[in-house]
Amino acid sequence: MRDIIAKSLTTVTGLVVGSYLATHAVRSADHLPSSLGRSRCDHCDVPLGALSTIPILSYVTHRGRCQDCDGKIDPIHLIGEVTGGLLAAIVAFSPVAGAARAWLAVMALVLLATSLIDLKTQRLPDVLTGIALIAAVGLQWPNGSVSLEVGFAAALVTAVCLSVVRLLGEILRERPGLGWGDVKLASVLALWLGLATPWMLVIASGLGLVVMSLWRPKTGRLPFGPFLALGAFTVGLGLQTGLWSNAL
Ligand SMILES: [Zn+2]
Repeated sequence: MRDIIAKSLTTVTGLVVGSYLATHAVRSADHLPSSLGRSRCDHCDVPLGALSTIPILSYVTHRGRCQDCDGKIDPIHLIGEVTGGLLAAIVAFSPVAGAARAWLAVMALVLLATSLIDLKTQRLPDVLTGIALIAAVGLQWPNGSVSLEVGFAAALVTAVCLSVVRLLGEILRERPGLGWGDVKLASVLALWLGLATPWMLVIASGLGLVVMSLWRPKTGRLPFGPFLALGAFTVGLGLQTGLWSNAL
């Protein structure tokens, strides 16, 4: 019973953290400092009441609008809250245990943060990619030196291949489809995934193509970070839980 309560509390914490990360992403886009103070409306800057800060529930009951100015609340807040809660529940209820669970939680948090920032600013901050690198090493470490070496090789091959794709995009098109931030993040995630790296790229590209066929962003450029994050977390979770094997 205590275990279920602890896991449920972790899920609620994920909702709250996801909410904070979404607010940080919105403020990053407006070049505003991310504050730990009281939450405010993105339109009229009025401080939100306690009921208006309850993740998911406040968005649904207010029908996505501010109670004061009726401004449309950016749906990224709901995306951050739902995804944060979902990721926390997956990590808490998964059979992954010990240090691996802690590193998986760090990886999930970093992937969510960088995806939300990419959605708002079309940038993947190097500092978050750096933390993902540390988490990738932490997740590979228990698998032994051979797996770690394969991981580094996969990271190097991914970096070279995606750099070529990026440079070809620059030569053949006015705007390259892939950003350097995507190349760096994918290479770091390859260190975690090793031989399963191609599956991350297949899932990310496939989902990206599906979304692009349904919805074309105003800027004409779809942020690729969230797709890389989703592909990597799906494959990585399979590896950590033993559903997917990278055995040599
Ligand atoms: Zn407002």
